[in-house]
Amino acid sequence: THFGYKTVETNEKEQMVAGVFHSVAAKYDVMNDLMSFGIHRLWKRFTIDCSGIRKGQKVLDLAGGTGDLTAKFSRIVGETGQVVLADINDSMLKVGRDKLRNKGLGNNIAYVQANAEALPFPDNHFDLITIAFGLRNVTDKDKALASMQRVLKPGGRLLVLEFSKPQHEVMSKLYDFYSFNILPKMGSLVAQDSESYQYLAESIRMHPDQETLKAMMEQAGLEQVEYFNLTDGIVALHRGFKF
Ligand code: SAM
Repeated sequence: THFGYKTVETNEKEQMVAGVFHSVAAKYDVMNDLMSFGIHRLWKRFTIDCSGIRKGQKVLDLAGGTGDLTAKFSRIVGETGQVVLADINDSMLKVGRDKLRNKGLGNNIAYVQANAEALPFPDNHFDLITIAFGLRNVTDKDKALASMQRVLKPGGRLLVLEFSKPQHEVMSKLYDFYSFNILPKMGSLVAQDSESYQYLAESIRMHPDQETLKAMMEQAGLEQVEYFNLTDGIVALHRGFKF
């Protein structure tokens, strides 16, 4: 346990999805930079800018993986705040924890192995929840969104950064070619793991588009939901509030 938070057991199906991330954990950061040409850094920067996060607040970086967002939040919330880096996968958590410790961060960070569908936190607890490139891996997304809504404080915000639907035909074609032809090859060359990157491409294609995700968030009880298309909608940032 960390800061008194209990972790939960995960079921077999989710363990299977998480298995992909056991396999990519060690190479995850380097692959992210390669596959996105470094642009994921801009998407994450934009997320921080839209978060309204302040010193002293409590943040949940859900499906936080190797902790890119956690590192930024940790600096902003300071010693009086707290960041929980939660992920279903202990390999990703371990890579994240080692990385953040090497950066000299950690005093205000808790690491929790948890399934987004059943968050092991009290009601009305966090000022901000982010889930970056995580929701598409979750089996029951509605259940996960309801769980996030539950642990958000009234007045709190949920930010979902995720692959979405390119807005223009040309971009859409380019992107399809890239993700089904080039991406798995990069995965096999750099990480000796084309299957995991094939899975990633497929999970991206199956993820709900901008309007569908917005409706799902509203269904979970979030309000004033809006989204921002990034890189022509290859990625979208959705934001909603709990009141
Ligand atoms: N947020 C990080 C980032 O943006 O770099 C990591 C994103 S990584 C593509 C997706 C993460 O989601 C993995 O670390 C994986 O273990 C985690 N994940 C998958 N299913 C999950 C679930 N049901 N609950 C919590 N985390 C999950």
